[in-house]
Amino acid sequence: MLLTITYEGSHTQDLGYLLFKNPDRPQAFSLSFGKAYVFYPEVSDARTTAALLLDIDPLDLAKGKEGSGVPGLFDYVNDRPYAATSFLSTAISKVFGTAMSGRCDKFPDLAKTPLQLTATLPCLKDRGDEELARKLFEPLGYTVETKRGLLTDAFPEWGMSPYITLTIRGKVLLSALLHHLYVLIPVFDRQKHYYTSADEIRKLLSHGEGWLAAHPERERITRRYLFKKRGLANEALERLRQTDVPEKDAGEDEETEESEETEETPAAESDDAPAEQDKPVSLNTLRMEAVRNAVLASGAASVLDAGCGEGRLVALLLKEPQIQKITACDVSVMALEKAAKRLHLDRMPEVQREKLTLFQGSLTYRDKRMDGMDCACVIEVLEHIDLNRLPALERNLFGFVAPRTAVLTTPNREYNAVYGMAPGSLRHSDHRFEWTRAEFAAWTERVCATYGYTAAIRGIGAVDENFGCPTQMVVFTRNG
Ligand code: SAH
Repeated sequence: MLLTITYEGSHTQDLGYLLFKNPDRPQAFSLSFGKAYVFYPEVSDARTTAALLLDIDPLDLAKGKEGSGVPGLFDYVNDRPYAATSFLSTAISKVFGTAMSGRCDKFPDLAKTPLQLTATLPCLKDRGDEELARKLFEPLGYTVETKRGLLTDAFPEWGMSPYITLTIRGKVLLSALLHHLYVLIPVFDRQKHYYTSADEIRKLLSHGEGWLAAHPERERITRRYLFKKRGLANEALERLRQTDVPEKDAGEDEETEESEETEETPAAESDDAPAEQDKPVSLNTLRMEAVRNAVLASGAASVLDAGCGEGRLVALLLKEPQIQKITACDVSVMALEKAAKRLHLDRMPEVQREKLTLFQGSLTYRDKRMDGMDCACVIEVLEHIDLNRLPALERNLFGFVAPRTAVLTTPNREYNAVYGMAPGSLRHSDHRFEWTRAEFAAWTERVCATYGYTAAIRGIGAVDENFGCPTQMVVFTRNG
């Protein structure tokens, strides 16, 4: 298994400094699954090529393996020593880890300069999908060349090889090229040498930082990278959607960006259509449905949606015959404009239009327009409020508006670890805080004690045994 990287230009021997590997001296590295070698088949001022050769023995791989899912001799006779697979990605990160971090002690600026680089992988399994390599690498700015030969010249009747030689060429940072290869090589492969664990989300997101979220094939990349782990892939995609959002004015919502996808992925698909099971049901969809169900279960006929964002909950509730009246407000005019557009307010049938009132207002101020509803929903809003303004929100919501039922949701900070986020970081730049489950529970208890409510808390989204669910929801019911 071989990867070559060629640098063309002038003083290209500096590739040695960039890779932290001396061109004059072949080097060997021991890995848990074999040996890696780095050497330079060509070195000149105008053109230098570094090669990473990976030598793995399938017998070693099979040793100690308890039963194989694959019948026959596959454990012993297979393509693992030759094909570019996740083994190569691991070798890239182990052998060129420093280069991947963008460090170059001798020429720091060179590591930050796009260079004319060409990478070649002679044995990549694309299973006849000619377009795959193009779809993966062209959006990243590479020109892509693929070559496919006969499976074996001795038996032309056996047909074409499922392996291609891939050459990608572009003016890119060396570190970016290495990250692209690290993530995209395993996308071609349908076997993974490692157990796909939650830690893989972290690796995918960290190697994909700055490019994966915007990649048109991000979904396929994520699903194939997190091979056979649909739950992990869904979480990673959810996280990528959040990453994708450009910085916005405070008060505007992170979730608005992802709503288009949410709309096209109704949760029913995963229940009714097994063929569609690979489609993610976004956390947003799960959350909206959990809230709608809680509202309906409360028996409410009228609902206040405070901090309605672009009106996704409103859209869901409008479909419910039980709900006769909806009042939705948001502090952000921009969010309200989006809501009006998303709900097609201008073309809304009269019967629906009469049910709905939209207005600009803040939940931290007393506002009579919020009064009189059976149920109030405050969905993913708390974390946008400065902690010192939270008591004002509590007083207004539970003291003045005082609905019979209130449904609130907020992120569970503990779950950020599952997303591979650095400790202490928040899911969005406009979040003022995110609570752990214990902090949320303590807050709800205090609200109950102060304003006379009873609370029931539950999680929404995939459960992690250590960190719980990504979203936490509480349903408050007024005592008496
Ligand atoms: N509930 C929506 C939007 C959540 S994003 C949903 O789940 O899709 C948070 C929203 O809260 C943003 O639209 C923001 O403008 C709004 N917001 C922030 N502070 C607010 C306040 N004090 N009063 C009302 N809305 C507020």
